Amino acid sequence: MIRSDILKDIAPILRDQLVVCNIGLPSQELHMIDDQPTNFYMLGTMGLSSSIGFGLALAQDKKVISIDGDGSVLTNFGTLPTIANNVADNFILLIIDNGSYGSTGDQPTYAGKRTSLAAVARACGCENVVEVPAADTKDALQAAIDGDKMTIIVSKCESGNIKVPVITMDPVVIRDRFMKAVQA
Ligand SMILES: [Mg+2]
Repeated sequence: MIRSDILKDIAPILRDQLVVCNIGLPSQELHMIDDQPTNFYMLGTMGLSSSIGFGLALAQDKKVISIDGDGSVLTNFGTLPTIANNVADNFILLIIDNGSYGSTGDQPTYAGKRTSLAAVARACGCENVVEVPAADTKDALQAAIDGDKMTIIVSKCESGNIKVPVITMDPVVIRDRFMKAVQA
């Protein structure tokens, strides 16, 4: 399975949560698969899906899922100790770890080599960290949604991209409809 397969798999269970999605192809794929006003697509914030989602979880009570990538978390490594030390039990970080910087041409990341992001998250102090094969991502995410504990899920998948159109929706429109969804 590649990232887009996982997104197709989990899209049906992303209806009642706020979703902050990683920049580039992940956002384009989620937008194409199942655009929702509760989705906030990163359009210029490399590495910051987890930080923005976590801040949103701290600021209000709705459940927030950040869909992030291995390259993105490696870009913003300060995010894991920040999350670990400021727990928000309405926050789920789903790291789709395909071992590559998918949006820039599938260059390999260290997460696909010797560095385990699940081990790093645990070492940073995150308590509920699960690493799953791609096919088990939906079940792991549903369990995290049903539980009331902050959870970090590392989903290991193959690298690879599908052809997707860019998001033509104006960023202001994405922001405004997301703010409405947050306040609803
Ligand atoms: Mg990646």
